[in-house]
Amino acid sequence: MGGVCSSERIAGVFSYESSEIDWCEDNYKHSEHVAEYFNTMSSFIFFIIAPIMLYLLHPYARERSLSIHLVWIMMIFVGLFSAYFHMTLSFVGQMLDELSILWVLALGYAVWFPRKMFPSFIKDRSSFSRLVLVITIISTVSSFVKPTANAYALNCFGLHLLYTLVVEMRCCMDQKALRLAKMSVALWILAITCWISDRFGCSFWQKLNFCYLHGVWHILIVMAVAYGSTLVAYLDANNEIPYSLPGLHYWPCDKWAFGFPHIVLKGTVKTQKQC
Ligand SMILES: [Zn+2]
Repeated sequence: MGGVCSSERIAGVFSYESSEIDWCEDNYKHSEHVAEYFNTMSSFIFFIIAPIMLYLLHPYARERSLSIHLVWIMMIFVGLFSAYFHMTLSFVGQMLDELSILWVLALGYAVWFPRKMFPSFIKDRSSFSRLVLVITIISTVSSFVKPTANAYALNCFGLHLLYTLVVEMRCCMDQKALRLAKMSVALWILAITCWISDRFGCSFWQKLNFCYLHGVWHILIVMAVAYGSTLVAYLDANNEIPYSLPGLHYWPCDKWAFGFPHIVLKGTVKTQKQC
């Protein structure tokens, strides 16, 4: 009997609508197999942006460390799990979606957190990465205690990253970096506003017949991450590989204000060796 009960419970966490969370979008409006159609479809933006960012960040990652690529590889999983969650609204989908975001943030901390802000008992980046790993594993396990609180905990990590960025940018005189910082924060605030509005202002949006703000959040947050992570990578390149003379450019055209930001290395390894 116990076996039957536990297998039913396992099947239960995979079943449609087993999550406590349901976003504002009407369920099964466009398909009987997809609970939230627009929220699911907008998750595919991750599959477009992540390969572009992997390609654009490659010259910097090759010089600094190929582990940098793990951040955008993990972002592909965020998109995949997000699509699965909004398609099924299952408990497993919710946990995979939230935990993949947690692991993206953890990877961001491990590869980019400024050396000078390490706790005093940490000597190098590999021991800092191990510390981040331990904290992430503990957070992963504790996320099952009260799953509805996870999204708020994730936003707290996001706020700490923002604080670190502000500290790092305080003495920055680089106009291109400052503009990128303003764009990243603006996109992030806009994204969070959409997320909160969908969560708490649903009845208002239903009256306007526009229940798609969570999908808009997907699009804005992936752009905020593209802008923010490039800025962090640029600051990191200036600290860690200054000989490569990192510069900020926009793709496809540097003159456009709204391209994809990326790092151009003007110095080569050869120049480093000659020096
Ligand atoms: Zn979502």
